[in-house]
Amino acid sequence: MNDSPPNLVKTMLPTRITLVALALTILPLASIHGATAPLFSSAIAGPTTMKWMPAATTALETELVSRHGESQRARIHRGLQQVADYWRAGDGERAVFEDFVVENFASDPATLDTTFERFEFLLEKMYGHANEIRLAMRRQTDLDLGPILPMDRISAGYSVADHYREDFFANKLAFTVLLNFPITTLEQRLAEGETWSRRQWAEARLALRYARRLPTEVQQAVSQASAEADQYIADYNIYMHHLVDENGKRLFPPGLRLLSHWNLRDEIKADYSDAKEGLAKQRVIQRVMERIVEQSIPQVVIDNPHVDWDPVSNKVVPAAVTDTAEPVPLDLQVVDLPEPDTRYRVWLNNFHAEQRVDRYSPAAPTHIARVFNDGREVPESEVEAMFSQILSSPLLGRVAQVVAERLGRPLEPFDIWYAGFRPRSAYTEEALNAVTRQRYPTPEAYQADIPRMLEALGFPADRAREIAAQITVDPARGSGHAWPLGMHGAQSHLRTRVGPEGMDYKGYNIAVHEMGHNVEQVISLEEVDHYLLRGVPNTAFTEALAFVFQDRDLELLGLAEPDKESRALMLLDSFWGGAEITAVALVDMRAWRWMYNNPAATPAELKDAVLQIARDVWNESFGPVMGIRDVTLLAIYSHLISNELYIPNYAIGQMIAAQIEGHITAADALGVEFERMCRTGDVTPDMWMKVATGDPVGPQALLQATEQALEELAAF
Ligand SMILES: [Zn+2]
Repeated sequence: MNDSPPNLVKTMLPTRITLVALALTILPLASIHGATAPLFSSAIAGPTTMKWMPAATTALETELVSRHGESQRARIHRGLQQVADYWRAGDGERAVFEDFVVENFASDPATLDTTFERFEFLLEKMYGHANEIRLAMRRQTDLDLGPILPMDRISAGYSVADHYREDFFANKLAFTVLLNFPITTLEQRLAEGETWSRRQWAEARLALRYARRLPTEVQQAVSQASAEADQYIADYNIYMHHLVDENGKRLFPPGLRLLSHWNLRDEIKADYSDAKEGLAKQRVIQRVMERIVEQSIPQVVIDNPHVDWDPVSNKVVPAAVTDTAEPVPLDLQVVDLPEPDTRYRVWLNNFHAEQRVDRYSPAAPTHIARVFNDGREVPESEVEAMFSQILSSPLLGRVAQVVAERLGRPLEPFDIWYAGFRPRSAYTEEALNAVTRQRYPTPEAYQADIPRMLEALGFPADRAREIAAQITVDPARGSGHAWPLGMHGAQSHLRTRVGPEGMDYKGYNIAVHEMGHNVEQVISLEEVDHYLLRGVPNTAFTEALAFVFQDRDLELLGLAEPDKESRALMLLDSFWGGAEITAVALVDMRAWRWMYNNPAATPAELKDAVLQIARDVWNESFGPVMGIRDVTLLAIYSHLISNELYIPNYAIGQMIAAQIEGHITAADALGVEFERMCRTGDVTPDMWMKVATGDPVGPQALLQATEQALEELAAF
């Protein structure tokens, strides 16, 4: 469930998908399921423990059992304990507590049903409308609507729903939930969840929502730090025409401005089809990326078209050529001072904001625990074990060998972004741009084509029309995202970049990915039987489902149906990209562990630690298969800075995508199967996957498919 404010989470695509995969997705953040289940029920009591509480709960248990009967004792005992755990001195004296419990305990099934239904109704109204408000608050910063004023940045950081949980404690509605519905642990949900009814699952989600009690200012600190990190990333552009070599030669065309790191990475991918200068360009970009992660990049070259920079020597001079209409600022000082570890300061700010949450979440007292136990509902140790299975598989070396053979040279570090497996590399970006610009000159043109695309993907015509009617296409300022609907009948928003000449292929490719999110968002709210069970188990699932769409973007344009060999190549692409993002995810996980072990670290210390972690992960994964050690490139991923342990979702998503894609391909009815899967809603990942495919979540499907693809290719 999306409890907390529709907090901003952007999701970038793993590299498996495409030459130019690049996307931002807005999804519910952090505790997708609401909150932390306490392992010990007394653990979350407020800072002040009330002396009268034990006597009061004992007396109330006796009184309520005498009123409602011995059969209610277990429920009464549990409810009292749950309320006591979260009751603070400010909530009232003993008499207030006693009156509240006696009045609000729902002893008979009819009252309990009514209570549940009213909460489900209220929460939909609250969060649905809060979602609309948040959309409005972020409108100017998210959409391509002209200049951003200082006030826009403030409104973008504001989220009305930040107050909701605390408000429900203040007016005691949260205590009504805690008194009547059980808080479950992850262990219980994993062990017993499959025997529960849908209503029991919805009750579990309702209770979990109030299993953490955060002060508003703490919640806002997290939102604020996150918004600042987003802005830091969004403004981090490199003006490529101003990269020069020692002879002053420019490899990139005028006007090319690339956002770190996604656009830089995508340029590396695109350069594989440039036989003449591709390799030289890729090497330069690698050097730029290394200077960013090492923070030796001169501050003055960031987002600045008025200086020329040689990334090898690190020399900066005033630009010798002009490729912008902006005048040179009068106060421009061309000095080669490095960026002052800002990258790591921004990262630490997110960590410090999460640390403030920790003391209000004693059962999951770190961001790491909250992310894995609450959000993903897969324990961190299991995730790491699955990642290790992938990175230590001999398949990594075998696929690396195929890449080297296809390139006809030894691998270099940037080849982790090798894009030559896919048949789409046969098209130049210009050719693809021409097709998409002509077809989609405006967001409206894309919007109008959605029903056709959904039908082409195998949705029945009437469903294609109904789903499309709940998707609104908006022009994005950034690279793109999908913003979910928050209540029945609302709109899911598809945001992508549409230039003055129309939608280029990058924008289109993102749009198809985001459309997968939008369709999932619409079905998993409108067609799921409880609002409290809307959505999918975690964000890895929504990414996996979006890939199902994105994988078919060329077919939707009427281009190149992949043959058997192409399919095998795409599987290798998927595995290679999956390995890259899995390695980055390990950097992310280890960096957060390091921060928790070194909470007083300075930005410079975090930098050193992250660089070492990146080298270590490299040396455990790509290093041996490439024969190159101590590369820091894995630390370039922008979401390391701005997305607080979101990246493992991509790597988990990679495995899940292989499972879902394998099933959908075998079933040969994409639209129908997609919809069936999305109707399962927000249960545990393993439960969802068993309903969808028959198997729990794991790397086997990805590894098996890769092995099979290698064998098939050997036959060609
Ligand atoms: Zn996505």
